[in-house]
Formats: sequence, structure tokens, C-alpha cells
Amino acid sequence: MPVANNSADQFDVAVVGGGPAGATAAHYLARQGWSVAMIDRPGRIKPCGGLIPPQLIREFDIPFDLIAANVRGARIISPTHRHADMDIPAPGVALPPDAKDGPLSMLSMVDREVFDEWLRKRATQAGADRRDGKFTSLTQDGEGVLIEYQEGRGRDGSAKKQVWARTVIGADGARSAVGKQAVPGAQDIPCVGAYHEIVESPTPTDDRFDPNRADLHYRGELSPDFYAWVFPHGGTTSVGVATGVKGFSMKSSVAQLRKEIGLDKAKTYRCEGAPIPIGPLERWDDGRNVVLVGDAAGVVASASGEGIYYAMASAQHAAEAVEETLRTGNGEALGNAYKAFMKQHGQVFKVLATLQKFWYKNDNRRERFVSICRDPDVQALTWDAYMNKRLVKARPMAHIRIMVKNIAHLTGLARSS
Ligand SMILES: Cc1cc2nc3c(=O)[nH]c(=O)nc-3n(C[C@H](O)[C@H](O)[C@H](O)COP(=O)(O)OP(=O)(O)OC[C@H]3O[C@@H](n4cnc5c(N)ncnc54)[C@H](O)[C@@H]3O)c2cc1C
Repeated sequence: MPVANNSADQFDVAVVGGGPAGATAAHYLARQGWSVAMIDRPGRIKPCGGLIPPQLIREFDIPFDLIAANVRGARIISPTHRHADMDIPAPGVALPPDAKDGPLSMLSMVDREVFDEWLRKRATQAGADRRDGKFTSLTQDGEGVLIEYQEGRGRDGSAKKQVWARTVIGADGARSAVGKQAVPGAQDIPCVGAYHEIVESPTPTDDRFDPNRADLHYRGELSPDFYAWVFPHGGTTSVGVATGVKGFSMKSSVAQLRKEIGLDKAKTYRCEGAPIPIGPLERWDDGRNVVLVGDAAGVVASASGEGIYYAMASAQHAAEAVEETLRTGNGEALGNAYKAFMKQHGQVFKVLATLQKFWYKNDNRRERFVSICRDPDVQALTWDAYMNKRLVKARPMAHIRIMVKNIAHLTGLARSS
């Protein structure tokens, strides 16, 4: 490792941010034997619905005891309160022999307070040097990057610290400070707002709330351009909404939804919001020694707002690209992170962006969208794509049937029923 001309602790890699993206990158690189600093601002639970697909559990070796709850399907609700129930088909994946109660043909919910901390601990156990602090600035010095951070939450007066690293991974979330300083365009990633309330789960008395079901409301009155959700996590439930429309009151939407499903009087544990970037950025790196991942790179799927799996997948690709840069000294190799990620997921991102643009436009289209969701072919392909993170090419007849039905709905030949 070349020695920098200062007294800061020196590393091969500094990872800024210890959410799903940062902790995944730090874990992989430390396990490969590189020296890694992971700087994470402590003390805040990431606001998040916590819905994750089985592919995340498989690909990133997540133990089943981290799962707060499993649900067996989703209910999609239309502007006129009709619904499509999308139950997950029979198990497509064999259970590991030591599986407890976590079948991989379920949707899983994680509590981010527990999930993120477990990921960070796994990274430190692999050898990453965890630093509690708030990143403030980076300076290139020819050989690498000098990073400054303030200890703890970074409040006024807290001690200023430095680390020096040959490469930097910016995993500090939406509106990334690392991105702002190092990667052109990063500060312009468009975001939608998201807000949710964590409430005590009720004992179900009727069909309005089901602890084994994730509800998604496609209703313009709750969200003019996205959706509202009810995600049960066992003892607690996340009731939330997202929208890109400025001035729209997400708090009022959540209040209305809680009332409709009989959770208006339920005990409220937390009310919190955060931006969701809807990217991805077209270039994640500076061609020298800095690369962005996860929300910092805008890697969240349109239409679904799904970001946890993609944060971890992008971090894995970035970590591999960083290894190549460390081995060869070629900063351009960092660009492989974006290329590898888009090769795997680019098509899904495109399909979801088109889907959102068309189907979320007005209540008439949302009504038709919910009708389409009743179709068994649509359900089978949707679940396979979501759960396994791939677009299935194996069923051409199903694709053709869906296309014909889509055209019928788009042209008004089919009525929403
Ligand atoms: C309300 C809401 C609901 C959502 N629901 C879902 C869902 O159900 N399923 C899903 O897949 N996705 C969901 N998402 C999206 C998902 O939460 C994100 O895409 C995901 O957390 C991105 O992971 P990340 O590691 O890139 O960033 P983050 O999870 O934001 O982690 C960033 C980390 O960096 C740290 N950090 C930030 N600034 C600094 C700094 N200056 N210095 C040091 N550290 C810093 C933070 O403390 C944090 O630990 C939701 C988002 C919101 C807002």
C-alpha cells in the first residue's frame, strides 16, 4: 500500500455509510483481506417498509432469525376499493435443511434497526474497522483520498478525525455527501418523498388488516403518482406512502389509511420520512478512486421503490470493481460496477420505469392496472421477477397473452372488472 503524506490511519478502502450497501461492501472487501474503514453516522434508524425478496436472503446469506415476519402474498387495491389478491405460488425454492420457519417462497419483512446493525457487525467481524462518525469532506492527494469526519453524530464541537484510503465507496444514502463532492450529477438524482408510521399491529378482527398480507393501495387520493402500503412486521406494522408531488400531504394520507383499516387508535411508535432516489445515476464513479452505491447512486427501482436488495447488489459489484482498481491501479475499472449492475438489472429498471409512467398516471389507469394484476400470467411473471430478481424468458406464450391483454386494456377494449 503506498504511504500517504500525513498521519491519518491508512486503509485500502474507506466505506462511507453502514446501511445495507456500505455494510455489504465492507464485509466482502474485509473478507477478501483488504484493510477497510467503515464510517457510519450512528443513532438513526433508517425509515423503511422493510420488505425484502427471497433472492436477498439467498444471495447475501441472511439468517432466518433476522426476519421479523413473512407474508404469503400481496393485495393490490384500486381507487374504487376493488382488489386483486396476489398469493405467492407454491414454493419454487428448496428449503435449506436447517430452515426454521422461513420458507423462501414468502415475502419477508426486516426491522432496519436490527437488520442494519447485524450487517455492520458482520462486516466488523470480517475485519472492517468501524468508525462512528459523520463524513464531512474528501481531498484527493494523487495516491488516494484523505477523508475527514466528525466523531459520533457530527454535532457541533465533536472531534474532527481523518482516515486516508486508496479508494472510497460512497454508501451514505440519498443525497450523498460523498457523491456531491466527487461524482458529477450525483446531487441531481431525482427523489420522491416517503413517509411512514410504525404502529402496534392489531389483533385482526376482519379482512381490513391481515398480518400475513402486504397491502398496496394504488389510489390517487392516497398517492397521486406512487402507492401507499401496509406492511405487517409481526408485533408492529409500517403504514406509509410515497410521492414525488410537492405539497401533497403524506401525513394526511397515512392518517386516512390508518382510519380505513382500523389502525387510527393503534399505538404509534415512530413517525418518520426520508427521500427515495429514483435513479440510477448513469455514472457512479470518478474514474480515479471513488465509486457510489445504493441510494447514493440512485439504485432504487421505479414503480416499486425497492432499494434494499439493489443497494446490496450494487455494493457487491462495486466491491469487485474496487478490488480490480486496488490490484491494477486502474481507476477506470471502477466503471465496471455500473456496467455489471445494469447488465443484470437494467432491463427490469427500464420495465418498471415504463410501468410507473403509464399505469400510475390517473385513477382510470390505476383501476385497469389492478384488473391486470388479477391475471394469473401477470401474477406468475411478477412473482418470479420480484422474488428471484430476473426477467423470465422461459414462457413466451405467457408474455404474448399479457401483451394482448395489455393492449386491450390500453385501448379500452377490455373493461376494468
Ligand atoms: C419510507 C421508506 C420506505 C421504504 N421501504 C422499502 C421497502 O419496503 N423495501 C425496500 O427494498 N426498500 C425500501 N425503501 C428504500 C430503502 O430503504 C433504501 O433503498 C435502502 O435503505 C438503501 O440502502 P443504502 O445502504 O444505500 O442507504 P441507507 O440505508 O440510507 O444507508 C446509508 C447509511 O449511511 C449513513 N450516513 C448518511 N450520511 C452519512 C455521513 N455524512 N457520514 C457517515 N455516514 C452517513 C446513514 O447513517 C446510513 O447508515 C424505503 C425507503 C423509505 C424512505
